[in-house]
Amino acid sequence: MEKDFEPRIIAFCCNWCAYAGADMAGVSRLQMPSTFRIIRVMCTGRVDPLFILHAFVKGADGVIVAGCHPGDCHYISGNLKAKQRIEFLKGLLEQTGLSERLEMYYVSAGEGNKFQQMIHEFTERIRKLGPSPLRNIPVPEKGKNKRETLYNELLAIFRGLGIEEIKPWKPTEEQRIPGFGTPVYDPEKCVGCGACYMNCPEGVIMIEDVDGKRKIKHYHWSCVTCRTCEEVCPEDAIKVEEGFDLEAFLNKVVHEDVELPLIKCRICGRFFVSAPMVEKAKEKEVPLELLDVCPECRQKLVGEELVSIWRNM
Ligand code: SF4
Ligand code: SF4
Repeated sequence: MEKDFEPRIIAFCCNWCAYAGADMAGVSRLQMPSTFRIIRVMCTGRVDPLFILHAFVKGADGVIVAGCHPGDCHYISGNLKAKQRIEFLKGLLEQTGLSERLEMYYVSAGEGNKFQQMIHEFTERIRKLGPSPLRNIPVPEKGKNKRETLYNELLAIFRGLGIEEIKPWKPTEEQRIPGFGTPVYDPEKCVGCGACYMNCPEGVIMIEDVDGKRKIKHYHWSCVTCRTCEEVCPEDAIKVEEGFDLEAFLNKVVHEDVELPLIKCRICGRFFVSAPMVEKAKEKEVPLELLDVCPECRQKLVGEELVSIWRNM
């Protein structure tokens, strides 16, 4: 361990309880090590997991999130949401060793002594762990959106620690946070209409028509669980499951969900529609002569028919 190591601890404190608790410790002249820097937030619910990851990436040796006791939150449940995020991050970072450097505490405005105790305990824990192994790693670029920034920061952490092989990790019920998930397809029901692909606002779903087959795929990493795909699917063939898969997220894994045969256009010979779509159309009594003709050829046919009607008038 580094000689004379003085931990650098970032403490996110909520305005109404923990920050007031720190104030109370101060006016009561309680002695504390000068190892921590407070970042005051209106509520611990404001502490985005990205703030914590960024503190680690920038070389913090430890991070504390301190808020009101359960039931006392000024904004009803901000502290409970923060707790869930901390549990999520602790699980996510378990294989990096950083989860021990992160803790959530509850401190009320009148608990100056509890604030003092928290700082002593946590400083001692970080002293034993030593300086963060992430000190001096290159700070990653900010992404186009929060998801990409999360990806960049996590990758910087894993690479900074020299972790080549990322172990699989999925959150438990208690660790799960909203906004991450994955569409799950029922290949027996999907007819390959493409409505899910066309309506997904995040570009999660992809359709590929190759070698006479329509393939439906999706990226796990960018689904925000908006459930639009579920709503627009005419066959009830898609369900969105909440969850997070660290391995799939960091490796930007593409899941192959459905593969369906395509039908060729009777006139131009190009593949243009999935076979189950044609079967569905037959059920709806669409004229058979229109089913195996692609939209462009159909337009031409209609055009030619109109011209011949015009000429014979
Ligand atoms: S839930 Fe929303 S983001 Fe996720 S795949 Fe469906 S449409 Fe796309
Ligand atoms: S899952 Fe539903 S919306 Fe998506 S291609 Fe299949 S049938 Fe169409």
